[in-house]
Amino acid sequence: MTAKIIDGKEIAQAVRKGIAEEVGKLRAKNIIPGLAVVLVGDNQASRTYVTNKQKACRELGMHSVLIEYPASLSQAKLIKKINELNEDNTIHGILVQLPLPEHIAETEIIEAISPDKDVDGFHPINIGRMMTGQDAFLPCTPHGILEMLHHIGCDLEGKHAVVVGRSNIVGKPAGQLFLNENATVTYCHSRTKDLASYTRQADILVVAVGKRDMITREHVKEGAVVIDVGMNRNDEGKLCGDVSFQEVQETASYITPVPGGVGPMTITMLMKNTLKSAQNVHHASLTT
Ligand code: NDP
Repeated sequence: MTAKIIDGKEIAQAVRKGIAEEVGKLRAKNIIPGLAVVLVGDNQASRTYVTNKQKACRELGMHSVLIEYPASLSQAKLIKKINELNEDNTIHGILVQLPLPEHIAETEIIEAISPDKDVDGFHPINIGRMMTGQDAFLPCTPHGILEMLHHIGCDLEGKHAVVVGRSNIVGKPAGQLFLNENATVTYCHSRTKDLASYTRQADILVVAVGKRDMITREHVKEGAVVIDVGMNRNDEGKLCGDVSFQEVQETASYITPVPGGVGPMTITMLMKNTLKSAQNVHHASLTT
């Protein structure tokens, strides 16, 4: 079997087309979805992510502001800025680019963002809403993965989904979203013994670790759907995932490439959340 490639770029384009149409409808009513991105310090990777997010906003007709601070910024000043953005009617989404300098407590910053503008979906209120199956801003990478699975017609009900990695931003919420769709979910992590004995049971295997070639052919059941979240560099400095693509492609039924798989979906889901926030505000103004 040779796996079909799940083309994240193509799926992202299709989703973005729908977002642009919805933005157009809001703009016709003088509502412009707005995203504020806060960047603290000069991490090169963070700067690239932020630039890409702003570009996506512009392309979709959304308003975006970049607020930049030096790494020496105090936590109190950052919280003051977040409070201002929470009150700013032109801003529907607030994103503080992580990681933050060590003297700033990430959890306190995330909790300072209004849950109604938490387009990253990291606020405990949104996580709790997601866990209890309520309407919520879903974290962008897991949401993007779900969207890809839907796109290929993968029904999760009754399937065994194995998630390798249990970070708060990818692994844990990905498993929760699959559970919400009636999958049976297994989480694996650095203390899991005999990883392959779990991954080989997976109908859907999601790998979010950050170690290249950690998933090889022996880890994958014939016909599994394999979603590779990892972003690593190979010996030639090229971007690669956590899965040995060539060999796993021979076993899986579907596989995501890196680059061009999960990555393009993540920013797209951020745009979708920003649109959703603006729609929520508009809906509230129509019904009050
Ligand atoms: P974290 O470093 O926060 O989490 C990594 C997870 O992998 C941890 O849960 C860790 O376990 C687990 N792990 C480490 N070693 C092993 C092992 N040998 N076997 C099984 N599990 C292991 O990473 P993130 O979740 O933030 O990101 C994961 C990868 O995804 C990274 O490469 C990142 O760059 C990429 N990424 C890509 C995105 C995209 O849009 N494409 C978005 C976000 C991330 P433990 O908890 O026990 O330490």
